[in-house]
Amino acid sequence: MKLKIDADVFLFDLDGTIYLGDKLIGDSVGTLMKLGEAGKKVFFLTNNSSRDKSEYVQKIARLGYPVQPEQILTSTMASIQYLTTRRPGKSVFPVGTPAFVKEIKEAGIAVKEDADIVLLAFDTTLNYEKIWKANILLEKGREFIATHPDIVCPSDIGDMPDVGSLMALLECSCGRAPSVICGKPYSPMAEIINTRVSAPKEKIVMVGDRLYTDILFGINNNYKSILVLSGETTAEMLVSSGVQPTLVLPTVNEIIE
Ligand SMILES: [Mg+2]
Repeated sequence: MKLKIDADVFLFDLDGTIYLGDKLIGDSVGTLMKLGEAGKKVFFLTNNSSRDKSEYVQKIARLGYPVQPEQILTSTMASIQYLTTRRPGKSVFPVGTPAFVKEIKEAGIAVKEDADIVLLAFDTTLNYEKIWKANILLEKGREFIATHPDIVCPSDIGDMPDVGSLMALLECSCGRAPSVICGKPYSPMAEIINTRVSAPKEKIVMVGDRLYTDILFGINNNYKSILVLSGETTAEMLVSSGVQPTLVLPTVNEIIE
């Protein structure tokens, strides 16, 4: 098997890279299987903090790839690692889904209304009360941390406003941006990878469809990067961007020659 890139560890984005909604992108599962058979390490990195890890295990397995839970890395996990190592003992007011709040609590992080930190996640159960309470805490000067910066999350019926859009709302009302963002392209997400693999950076490749998260994550961490044109980014967007990947392919399936 010949590959278009020299790497031992493949970090894949999910939405727009492996699948779109519930549809696989070409034979992406076949490609993942072949990489595994060739001894390559495969991980899935998602910034989506609205679902917990087990939902990704179920979804990827349902689509035909026998994924192990250790292969999935989320911005929720990066946020938990950051909070437990850099902000030990601090409480959070999460703006997030019940699955997100459960995962935070299970990690031993105290959740309360009058918290030290406002933790903004991809809250598909958002209501006015939560945004209002978050704003009150931020006006009091409490720390502002976000799980990831994505502006929208693609769906088959249209884009969903994601954390980046909610950040803009709170920046407008309280006058502050987050001091820390944990998911791709920022360093807390890379710290999770460092705990899983010991490969040299030049043998790691980030594969994704989004320039300002996936590809920038590769660049920020001195990994190689592959932009796939199966999701958000068009050839026109790439030409006018300052963020340039190592390689551009139509889909993940062209990684194998
Ligand atoms: Mg994507």
